[in-house]
Amino acid sequence: MTFLPEQWLPQPHGLAEKTILVTGAGDGIGKAAALTFARHGAEVLLLGRTEAKLEAVYDTIVAEGGVLPAIIPTDLAKAGHDDLIALAGELATSIPKLDGLLHNASLLGDRKPLAQASAALWHQVMQVNVNSAFMLTQALLPMLEQAPLASIVFTSSGVGRKGRAFWGGYAVSKFATEGLMQVLADELGGISNIRVNSLNPGAVNTAMRRTAYPAEPPNTNPDPDALMPHWLYLMSDDSKDINGKALSAQR
Ligand code: NDP
Repeated sequence: MTFLPEQWLPQPHGLAEKTILVTGAGDGIGKAAALTFARHGAEVLLLGRTEAKLEAVYDTIVAEGGVLPAIIPTDLAKAGHDDLIALAGELATSIPKLDGLLHNASLLGDRKPLAQASAALWHQVMQVNVNSAFMLTQALLPMLEQAPLASIVFTSSGVGRKGRAFWGGYAVSKFATEGLMQVLADELGGISNIRVNSLNPGAVNTAMRRTAYPAEPPNTNPDPDALMPHWLYLMSDDSKDINGKALSAQR
């Protein structure tokens, strides 16, 4: 069962006046989420490592008449604490508040037994999937605190809730993501305007899924667009009372 209320329908302008930062906004689920948020009235901050992909998303939002987005070219494998503090400082000069933060960018890493996993790739996966999410959240908390209601969504995975063979550092990073969500949600719950949840998309037809399952026909799984009501709900004020939950977009 998904968590969407049975009768819930997205309001056409349900994210109007909101500013939402999406990491990994150039492709896959992040791209679909950025476009969806813009289509519902949000100003979207597009963070990712491949500028050409972010520009394509930017162009689509502008062509569709959305609120002018911003591009934040950032390689989360390389960005350090100081870089992300500087990034947040720069954002704060032009944007008064942040209403949403979708941690979506992730690296799949090795699909091998741990006995054969590359230590270098392990570190990279942890850096992108966990460390950068912690550092970016910390840097952006002051801007999130300025919003009347703010939503942080960490992107999880089924293998971050039950370990499975050959998912290596990726699975471990998603367990850590759940931990990060829980600690932050417990710290902020009841004393702040910020809610914090994790969302497992389930199997979705993206480049990551196709890499993880090369033999699977691509149309086996839904496209990201089909699942977007879940992301919209979590960014809309309708989810204001949900905090600290490990949620799933599919059964
Ligand atoms: P994709 O690989 O299709 O997209 C991932 C995005 O993250 C890309 O835009 C990619 O940028 C970006 N990214 C990767 N590394 C970095 C980096 N170092 N710095 C900045 N951006 C980076 O993945 P999905 O859309 O499938 O996955 C989105 C989220 O959903 C991930 O957190 C994933 O773990 C999760 N998920 C996905 C599932 C699925 O079936 N698809 C299932 C369960 C969870 P670039 O385009 O430049 O490569």
